[in-house]
Amino acid sequence: MKLKKYSWDDIHALNIRNSTLLIDIDGVLMADGEDTIAPDAATHINHLHQSNDIFIVSNTIYKKRCDYIAQTTNAICVHSHHKKPSTKILNDIPNRDPNKPMIVIGDKIITDGLFAKRIGARFIMKKRRRSPNDLWIIKLTYIVDDFVYRYINKKRNKER
Ligand SMILES: [Mg+2]
Repeated sequence: MKLKKYSWDDIHALNIRNSTLLIDIDGVLMADGEDTIAPDAATHINHLHQSNDIFIVSNTIYKKRCDYIAQTTNAICVHSHHKKPSTKILNDIPNRDPNKPMIVIGDKIITDGLFAKRIGARFIMKKRRRSPNDLWIIKLTYIVDDFVYRYINKKRNKER
């Protein structure tokens, strides 16, 4: 199956329920170069929260960024010494219901996608939110990630 990039409306249409959502910040809830949550993201997280457990799992080095999102969305920020795609992050998620299926929502294959695969979660690749203020080092990781994305889809096309 080809990898697809989802908009918030696409995710809304999936009608996700009774799941544990592990949601990325940068490129998903706000662009790397932004410091407030995107209005459409806030709306959709609110809606998803009505029937799912939501945890924020970010590789950002800025703890405040995660705390801000947690406060804004009432989701729980997962503070971990480990970074995606490490499976050890799971140990740092407080009170996770093991009976609920896990879904990772992120914008990068090399971190979020691999993390999902390793923990046995479904991966929903969010269309990346970008800003002119994104740092150059971040832009570089986007180029690499987009390359991997195209490579995987090419390979999957051939397999069909
Ligand atoms: Mg991201």
